Amino acid sequence: MGIAASPFLSPTADRLNGVGPKLTTEVLARRARQRRQIQSAIGISYVVDAIILLIYAHAGTTSPTIGPAFAICGLVSVTGYILLSESGVTERFSDHYFVVPQSIISVIIMLAFTYIAPQVGVMFLCTLFVVFAFSSLRSTPWQTAVVWTATASGLAGLFLLTDKPISLPHETYLERFATMTVFILTVGRCMFIGIFSSAMRDSLYRSGLALKEANRRIEELAELDDLTGSLNRRCIMRFLDDEIARAHRTSVPCAIALIDLDWFKRINDTYGHPTGDEVLKTFAITVFANIRSVDRFGRYGGEEFLLVLPETPVDVAVRLLDRLCSIIAGLDWSAFSPGMRVTVSAGVATLKAGETADTFLARADGALYKAKAQGRNRTSSA
Ligand code: GH3
Ligand code: MG
Ligand code: MG
Repeated sequence: MGIAASPFLSPTADRLNGVGPKLTTEVLARRARQRRQIQSAIGISYVVDAIILLIYAHAGTTSPTIGPAFAICGLVSVTGYILLSESGVTERFSDHYFVVPQSIISVIIMLAFTYIAPQVGVMFLCTLFVVFAFSSLRSTPWQTAVVWTATASGLAGLFLLTDKPISLPHETYLERFATMTVFILTVGRCMFIGIFSSAMRDSLYRSGLALKEANRRIEELAELDDLTGSLNRRCIMRFLDDEIARAHRTSVPCAIALIDLDWFKRINDTYGHPTGDEVLKTFAITVFANIRSVDRFGRYGGEEFLLVLPETPVDVAVRLLDRLCSIIAGLDWSAFSPGMRVTVSAGVATLKAGETADTFLARADGALYKAKAQGRNRTSSA
């Protein structure tokens, strides 16, 4: 069976071909570093267990060759994996930690040594808990089932097909010391894995929050007009539709105003387009500073803006627009250029029963035309 067909090692050619997120050199280096750290910890673990086995050997429980043999087996498996990792081979697989193959190799080592040295067999079986706790951090339920089935078969063979007296000695003081160390280390390793997993969860949680914030910002930017920070046309029209539907449903009044800068072409021609842009920004900031939080202000097109005023009767809307007109006209525009004056005109309309957005806007536009015709720098209502 080729590697690519293995159910354990699903290749990630798709991801590396750019379908999924691209792995930058930095990410690859970080993953390689993590793998090295994990493998070093596993290697140290084998050596520590080998030392305990030497203590058992010293106590006369096992043969002195068991400890070194156990360390060699563990270190060979760790070194093999590190070589695959450093040569980049593991990165070709979605399970780049090779959790399943590594777990199975560890399980084989533990079961083999339980068979070879049954006098201290419980020590190797204890390590199975650590192997499972660790592999479950990164395995899918399917992978866990595979490793568990393989382990269960091995244990069944060991317990049912042999009559090895699997035990953990505690006759002499030295044996009791070694056995105590086995349990303390097993609990400690499980605890370490727990801490590692909660650190992973914390880091995922933090990434989730950052992602949420980035999405919120993207959504916000997608709704705003770049220049003025007011809502863009798509968004203000959507808001108008929603507000019309709500007003029809609840029979509350709804007003809108189309606001257009007067003689804006002249401002551009006289002071330049960049100054015209600054005027638009200042106009928008001034409007924002003088409307309620429930009101919505958006760029309808060019130098024409739409203000949607929910639950606002016509007299209140006209008063607000009159006030806005005089605030704009009263601003000290000479900061942009000496002698500059800017005024706006507004057409106000209130929603009629059964009216659609198109006719509502057309009436506001008619009122705006009237305000312009009457001399500009004023409000007119439909
Ligand atoms: P009126 O009082 O009748 O509205 O006259 P007006 O000059 O404002 O109207 P007109 O429609 O003739 O000109 C609008 C100008 O607004 C023309 C266009 O170049 C300018 N304009 C539209 N969008 C922008 C913009 O984003 N920045 C700048 N600087 N100018 C803009
Ligand atoms: Mg204009
Ligand atoms: Mg215009």
